[in-house]
Amino acid sequence: MHKTNYDLIVVGAGPAGSSAAYSAASNGIKVAIIEKEHNIANKIRTSGVTWIDDMEKFSIPKNFYNKIKNYAFYSPNNKIMIKNKAPFVAVLDIRQTYKFLAMRAVKKGAKLFTGNRIYNVKKEQNCISINNDRFSSKIIIDASGFRSIVAQSLGLVKQWNVFGVGAEYESYAENIVPDTWSLMVGSKYSPSGYAWIFPVNKEIVRIGVGITRPYSSINPIDNLNKIIKNKIGPINDLGKITPIELHYGLVPNDGPRKTVYDNLLLVGDSAGYSNPLVLEGIRYAIKFGEVAGKVASKAIYKSNYSEHSLAEYENQWKKSIYKKIILSYVIQKRWLKLTDNEWDRELNVIKNFTATELINFMKSDFDVLDLLKLIRKNPTFIVRNFFKILQQAIHKNNLTCI
Ligand SMILES: Cc1cc2nc3c(=O)[nH]c(=O)nc-3n(C[C@H](O)[C@H](O)[C@H](O)COP(=O)(O)OP(=O)(O)OC[C@H]3O[C@@H](n4cnc5c(N)ncnc54)[C@H](O)[C@@H]3O)c2cc1C
Repeated sequence: MHKTNYDLIVVGAGPAGSSAAYSAASNGIKVAIIEKEHNIANKIRTSGVTWIDDMEKFSIPKNFYNKIKNYAFYSPNNKIMIKNKAPFVAVLDIRQTYKFLAMRAVKKGAKLFTGNRIYNVKKEQNCISINNDRFSSKIIIDASGFRSIVAQSLGLVKQWNVFGVGAEYESYAENIVPDTWSLMVGSKYSPSGYAWIFPVNKEIVRIGVGITRPYSSINPIDNLNKIIKNKIGPINDLGKITPIELHYGLVPNDGPRKTVYDNLLLVGDSAGYSNPLVLEGIRYAIKFGEVAGKVASKAIYKSNYSEHSLAEYENQWKKSIYKKIILSYVIQKRWLKLTDNEWDRELNVIKNFTATELINFMKSDFDVLDLLKLIRKNPTFIVRNFFKILQQAIHKNNLTCI
């Protein structure tokens, strides 16, 4: 079989892999991206909700997303709405965005091999080869998502213990408010997670249900069908709903893992650093995918592919988000245990947030000073109690200098 050598192989053309390939190819590195699907983003495994300021930083075209400025939350017996003049949230056209990211890498010289599933990985001294030596390189970036296929094949990682499972229908609906999202919490929506309505435009919405394994064993598709059939909560307001496409996926929720080895980097979901509060990982996949590509290319120019030489990648993402992620886990752990009544009360806490505070909170972009400001602003017992738990976590995990 013909063997092809590259400086760098990136496995997976999701947002992490395409971004890693883009930054490495921009540095003049010979890069191959290997993707199992025949079409980029053929199978959609995400809701594609992210933040406009991040998308602007990544130069994602503005016509690739719908803008959201109002944020509705529903619990079994409560409903709140936080409105804003300016939009902060983007609901992505996922196929267009992921293709744009892949094409950006290709334009810089990366070679894209679609329809190539990785099934065999072999590491010899300073070289990794895959699929019975069909491809080989000095460094591999594992951007294969949830299954971390390269790292698993080399016996370096095991399957995640805690993870989110989500199902959503992209649907036609009669009555859509295109600038308003709805998040639904409590047992009738999801026993260990949340449900959502994310408008794509005036005619299309994504209606979904996420649950957390192993805390719940239900199939999210069953719950999704149930809430649509029974028109629960804000789903009733959508009028006639016609599903046109099912999206289904898994996302790690187990805390980040070691992401650097000799000749190997793990990025995006393969690394497990999505924001645990709402399990959003696209912006980190792009941001730290680019960092990984840059660090890998530097290592290639130095001809040093060791873990030590690649460590800068892990140092950078950890410095930027590790403490935020840990703090968010504390909140998420608490959210997973809330009863329906407690959720009703929790919405009264969230109600006090401005849109900016809410978005920073959901993005996990808050630090200790922000928390203290929120406590001062919301001196009620319930808010104090909520933030006391956070303060204890900050202290316990030594997070005071986020
Ligand atoms: C239901 C659900 C909803 C979500 N909603 C959001 C959201 O609203 N906003 C947000 O920011 N994040 C969301 N996420 C998380 C987000 O989707 C991920 O964090 C993000 O996709 C990670 O990007 P990635 O490039 O690491 O992995 P992926 O997007 O999973 O890409 C991995 C790529 O590798 C390829 N691949 C896999 N195995 C192989 C193989 N053996 N050989 C070759 N190629 C392979 C796949 O085909 C895929 O193209 C959601 C996740 C789920 C499950």
